[in-house]
Amino acid sequence: MGMNIGIVGLGLIGGSLALDLRQQHTIFGVSRRPDTCKQAIARRIVNQASTDLSLMAKADVIFLCTPLGAIEATVTQLLPHLAPNAILTDVGSVKGAVVRAIAPQWQNFVGGHPMAGTAESGLDAALSGLFVGRPYVLTPTDSTPTTAVGTVAELARSLQSQIYYCSPEAHDRAVAWISHLPVMVSASLIAACLSESSPEVLNLAQSLASSGFRDTSRVGSGNPELGRMMAEFNRDEVVRSLHAYRHQLDQLITQVEQSKWNSLQQRLTQTQIARPSFLSDPQNLGKPSVKEA
Ligand code: NAP
Repeated sequence: MGMNIGIVGLGLIGGSLALDLRQQHTIFGVSRRPDTCKQAIARRIVNQASTDLSLMAKADVIFLCTPLGAIEATVTQLLPHLAPNAILTDVGSVKGAVVRAIAPQWQNFVGGHPMAGTAESGLDAALSGLFVGRPYVLTPTDSTPTTAVGTVAELARSLQSQIYYCSPEAHDRAVAWISHLPVMVSASLIAACLSESSPEVLNLAQSLASSGFRDTSRVGSGNPELGRMMAEFNRDEVVRSLHAYRHQLDQLITQVEQSKWNSLQQRLTQTQIARPSFLSDPQNLGKPSVKEA
């Protein structure tokens, strides 16, 4: 049944959600810049748009899709406008800080994180089908009403996402490893290459760079604001993962300095064997999982 869906923050994620959900629902969009609102209406991404949060009074379910740093202030301004039974959910890449800030303010709140994206940002970057086959993590707490969780899960399912349930803390620790740490590592790789002191060698390296460099540097060249927010809002887990990574680098340096070639090869064999378990579903089947059947 069609619902009134509110989307606050018409950027990459908010715009992409609107593009998919508009097939079955009426979409009300709020964004910061009037131009973005005009564009969203002109391109029929939303049915109505405004820079004024009072538009959200019509919404049954509202997705908070602003940058992480704006979510809490947005909710404070939004609360007076909400219908009593409105369900609030967010798409923030970090869950602990967001859930701690919003759950005490609105009973019908479900933390969420659709794990899809591109290196682009803003409404122009919005894509339909962005969430197909991608994980959509929901982080309800003991006090989250099950009907609210069910409604958000149903919407996520309609995007053809794979739904996972976990605590906000488990989410933040897991994404530190596979999303936030890779951004920092990849950015450090680019920065390390730039530290080459010979302009001639740097030039040559830049000319020779190919698929290996493209693969390992890609996530280090994404939206800088998003990278900053990951570190700022998931600081403890990002620091923990960076320390673990530094420990690996230290061991690697020792192995190479001391010409421990067998140990190095063993290490690379272990990582070669381990990688598929992070990437392909069939490898995950034997493990206890919180993924929906
Ligand atoms: P984005 O492309 O920059 O979109 C956010 C949009 O929100 C901006 O384009 C801006 O639009 C609008 N906005 C900014 N401040 C606002 C405010 N105070 N009130 C209303 N609208 C405001 O960023 P994004 O990549 O979609 O990320 C949005 C959220 O999704 C973040 O919380 C992020 O953690 C999460 N997320 C991102 C990804 C990813 O890969 N990018 C993946 C999953 C989740 P105008 O200024 O044009 O109005």
